[in-house]
Amino acid sequence: MTESVLVTNELFEEVLSPLLNRFEVEVFQQDKPMPRELFKQKVEDKTGLIAMAADRVDKEIFDVAKPLRVVSTVSVGVDHIDIKAATERGIMITNTPGVLTETTADLAFALMMTAARRIGEAERYVRAGKWKIPMYRRLLGTDIHGKTLGIIGFGRIGRAVAKRAAGFGMKIVYYDIAGADETVESDLNSRFMLLDELLSTADFVSLHVPLEKSTERLIDRKKLSLMKRSAFLINTSRGRVIDERALIETLKDKRIASAALDVFETEPHLPPELLEMENVVLAPHIGSASHETRKRMAELAVENCTLALEGKKPRYLLNPEVLK
Ligand code: NAD
Repeated sequence: MTESVLVTNELFEEVLSPLLNRFEVEVFQQDKPMPRELFKQKVEDKTGLIAMAADRVDKEIFDVAKPLRVVSTVSVGVDHIDIKAATERGIMITNTPGVLTETTADLAFALMMTAARRIGEAERYVRAGKWKIPMYRRLLGTDIHGKTLGIIGFGRIGRAVAKRAAGFGMKIVYYDIAGADETVESDLNSRFMLLDELLSTADFVSLHVPLEKSTERLIDRKKLSLMKRSAFLINTSRGRVIDERALIETLKDKRIASAALDVFETEPHLPPELLEMENVVLAPHIGSASHETRKRMAELAVENCTLALEGKKPRYLLNPEVLK
């Protein structure tokens, strides 16, 4: 049987060549999500799919794509894929962990600094031609050194953020469903705390959990109310980890200082209120968006897909039970 692969984004030409040399490949040659109907039509006869985080890969897709054997996503997050349904049909699901850890941690840190030092507001101020006199008491921000950073989800990215924070002289507390990890606490100068205590202690809270049942709206109205009035919330995980409506109200009422968000509940459609608030920093889901990292992610996704279609075990297989 000839293997055939659908790639839902143009990716990088040089990265695709191992696929092009081995299989029949169809690439959606645009840097935007594939329209749903076209996606369904094109995936129908494919044995492999390389998809992006914006593509919903669910039962509807599996029902039309009968020959499909592997879905290789160019992301670490897999909340856009119905893994259970895939496993029932014997379809392998692979992702790209690790290669984007440092880049995403950089963005989380950059967002924290942007919010703390009001860089977005300052930039808008200069561009609007408002800078006419010396800035002694305007646009005063908040120091991060000496402050406490609370990290929720102390996995790869959470720990990479902790490393950066330690270098900036911050104290680190963390919460993870897996509990305390004493092996890293002294290395990263960090301390485990239960979630509510962390929320009421931290000056900055950064979210690094995957989106799944246990984390959907983990930060709801009640959790937001535990945060200090002077605190900042940074989200580079997934939008639905926060109750966005409750966050908007919290920001409007100035019950926390500010939020810095890379991810949203229904991206790329944002609630208009967010666009109007000064005490929020907004980024268009660019956590892993560096030239180097996006290329490494694409390479790994291509490798995972190639190995699967050649009957070998992909490097990052999330449902190994399908191989039994
Ligand atoms: P990881 O699996 O290494 O770490 C996640 C951690 O969260 C784990 O330690 C896990 O135990 C913990 N966790 C899970 N459920 C929890 C819960 N209910 N409460 C507390 N902790 C919980 O994953 P990672 O590589 O660090 O990536 C984390 C997430 O970041 C991804 O799943 C993805 O959604 C997101 N991400 C976003 C971008 C972006 O562009 N903004 C880029 C990369 C990753």
